[in-house]
Amino acid sequence: METKLKSYISLTNSYTPRGIVFVPTFNCTCLCRHCNNDFMNRDLSIYMDYKKAISILYEAKKIGLNSIQITGGEITMYPEFMINIIPHARKLAMRINKPPTNCYIAIDMVKTENFFKELKNVDYRSGFRISIDPYHNSVIPISQVADFIIIYKKFFKLSTLTIGSCYYDREEIFKLYDKLINHLKQSGIKDIYINKEKKSIFIEGYKIKYGIWKPTRPSWQELKDFEVEVKIIEKTPACLGPHGVGYLWIEPDFKVRICSCNGNCFPDYLIIGDLNKESLIKIIEKARNNKIFKVLANEGAAGLRKILNMKTRILNEEKKYTFMCELCNEILTNNEYIKIIETNLNNIMM
Ligand code: SF4
Ligand code: SF4
Repeated sequence: METKLKSYISLTNSYTPRGIVFVPTFNCTCLCRHCNNDFMNRDLSIYMDYKKAISILYEAKKIGLNSIQITGGEITMYPEFMINIIPHARKLAMRINKPPTNCYIAIDMVKTENFFKELKNVDYRSGFRISIDPYHNSVIPISQVADFIIIYKKFFKLSTLTIGSCYYDREEIFKLYDKLINHLKQSGIKDIYINKEKKSIFIEGYKIKYGIWKPTRPSWQELKDFEVEVKIIEKTPACLGPHGVGYLWIEPDFKVRICSCNGNCFPDYLIIGDLNKESLIKIIEKARNNKIFKVLANEGAAGLRKILNMKTRILNEEKKYTFMCELCNEILTNNEYIKIIETNLNNIMM
């Protein structure tokens, strides 16, 4: 029977996370149209208890998870979280990935300065990924982003910053970059220019790399067709650890989701535990025994569709999506589909 299964789908990898993502809060003043956080169904008033988060960090290290990411929501709406958790992550020699920010904190220059000072004191080295795009810079002024950079420069090397921009029209993004450069010049920076070939803004010799991409379609509200790019999803790579998105996603109320990809926030099927009631190791064990997650850890969302369509063609393979997680969402928000996949998997694994 093993041969029968192998010929249909390869299920050699077991779900194995490699790190954790903390979401200290889902709160964000921007409420961008393209944000994957479903703001209608999130409690924006919850701020993660950092003392409990620290104990989770120690448990995570013990079971071999060696890196963390902090994301949101907007992380600088709750700066105490980073200030308290970073020293422990450093002590445990865990890799700290660059967190994204829209520079909300720079609305208050004194608070921003204190935030960076505290981070410097705890030997923070990872920098930030600054988000600049027309969706939210109509809420966060570009002058505020410039202030964030100016204050950051007092404590850290600017090359530890990157810029991420998500919009369908590149020219509009470059207009915002030009505005940023003008604001920085007005703040006294003379040596600053953009190099499109190197996808970087150079400031006083330091290179800040930028990345531009098109938005994907969130599940909670429609983007217009021209804002996104759709394509047929044929094969998908393993999308959960060990080879795919290898991070567990821990929400402000300590619910745990299976992966840290943007599409993870859509189907509740991907909620795999609650750290208020269970240990991290128990949650991972439970997830590892789930056959659907095993399929995702080997052949991603297209693997799920393959099993779903095994006996009857239920989902059209020609259908277009903005990203693989949209397909995952379509399948895992449908209880009928889940039942069919489980039955088909049981049949081929017998
Ligand atoms: S700034 Fe980022 S976190 Fe906030 S709403 Fe926009 S995309 Fe979402
Ligand atoms: S396809 Fe599903 S499980 Fe895989 S990364 Fe996307 S949301 Fe996560």
